[in-house]
Amino acid sequence: MKLIIEARFEDSDGGFAPPIIVGEIVRRDGSLADLGLKLAEGQDLLGQVQSRLVSQQALRWLEENSRCRRCGQALAHKDTRSIVVRSVFGKLAVPSPRWWTCQCCTHGRRQTFSPLSKVLTRRTTLELECLQAKWAAHLPYRQANSLLKEVLPLNQGISFGTTRRRIQAVGQRLDHLVQHDIAQHRNRDNTGHESRESKDVACVAVDSAWLTLYVSPKIRLAQHAEEQLHCMRMKQVWSHHVNIVAGRATFASRPARLYGYVHKEVASAADRLDQFLRAGGVQPDERVTVISDDAGEFVKAVQGSALARGRILDWFHIAMKFKAAENSVWGSKHVEPHERDRVRDWLRRAQWLVWHGKGRQAVARIKDIDEELLARPEHEDSTLWWNLRRLYFYIDNNESTLVNYGARYRKGLPISSSIAESAVNLLVSHRMAKKQQMRWTNEGAHHLVQVRVAALNGELTPKHLAALSKVPCANASQARQVA
Ligand SMILES: [Zn+2]
Repeated sequence: MKLIIEARFEDSDGGFAPPIIVGEIVRRDGSLADLGLKLAEGQDLLGQVQSRLVSQQALRWLEENSRCRRCGQALAHKDTRSIVVRSVFGKLAVPSPRWWTCQCCTHGRRQTFSPLSKVLTRRTTLELECLQAKWAAHLPYRQANSLLKEVLPLNQGISFGTTRRRIQAVGQRLDHLVQHDIAQHRNRDNTGHESRESKDVACVAVDSAWLTLYVSPKIRLAQHAEEQLHCMRMKQVWSHHVNIVAGRATFASRPARLYGYVHKEVASAADRLDQFLRAGGVQPDERVTVISDDAGEFVKAVQGSALARGRILDWFHIAMKFKAAENSVWGSKHVEPHERDRVRDWLRRAQWLVWHGKGRQAVARIKDIDEELLARPEHEDSTLWWNLRRLYFYIDNNESTLVNYGARYRKGLPISSSIAESAVNLLVSHRMAKKQQMRWTNEGAHHLVQVRVAALNGELTPKHLAALSKVPCANASQARQVA
């Protein structure tokens, strides 16, 4: 049997053209072996329908615009070329005529112009751009490309290179949008307002991750001993490190939102934090509390921020340090088995003090344990000694950012930046992990992070991309890349 699929164009006034065959599907009689449509047949059909629809739309548009707007005279035809349009259902060559301009407006000096090229300034549909960016945000470029080609009739439509350029251009635009917003709000004074705690923002947490990324595959593939030796001498080009910061805000009434950036690529972490909070709906007279680790960049970001009230040291990082100290009690040769429970109880009591915001007392208690153990030979070289020192320095240095965690917890308020850590994982690990052997520069990683943030926040739709293309570009080459 044969399934013949026909298409018929009908005008709005009811008139219609004779049907065109867009596809034929042949199946063996009396057999269920090839049940239903195959992927290739489906792709072919979609490609055919798209191509017919686009040509018909272009034809109708040309018909409607074939006269001079001033005097109404029909414009003379010179020749026909074609323009290439890339859509989710294939790469299409659309016939594009060139017309002579009308004599009424050119005073005898006739010129040719291509009406379709003037109107179709975007040669890749927003939908395709969006799909490419979205998939390349989640998968390496080559994989994203093959996946799209596998399910859509895009065999000629996209390439590895265009996907990479597109995602970088979209990332650049997204970043520019953030910078534009920061610049617009820079000189607005927030200090005059009577401030109150934000009701909608439940929690903002920030964290960062260091990625060690390989720079040159050539170096890894160095065959000759001499070449390898050279590479070892040039250790700094073997790999480089990218510091990615990620934050997440949870809201009382909406799903959580993420933000992220490469530390070296932003002028001010505080501006970035404020922009994120503003975009999340925090009003100028509202303040939010940020939970983070004690890394210097967060301290500065919160101090310089207009919307963050203050910083709380993340309970998760504190608990991890206590856990490490406790584990080394069990592994220590210098603590007798019968004493272990006592030392552990001391540590737990210190942790309990920190839990209630009593940092100074906790430090004193940990120092007591350390001093007692110092009386023993070789304690100074042990892991336990090192972990205890690390613990009390950590608490001592961050004493001002400790709060009564127990009270906050009982009130249902957040105490841990673990939500930021999952944001870091979301932004970084799956797509940019070390094992992917990607060659990121700070700038490239920063732009990819912007696209990933937009994708994960659900802000990478054709509508968003259309709005994005209206943002003024930093430079002309960037504008060309996006178009
Ligand atoms: Zn005219």
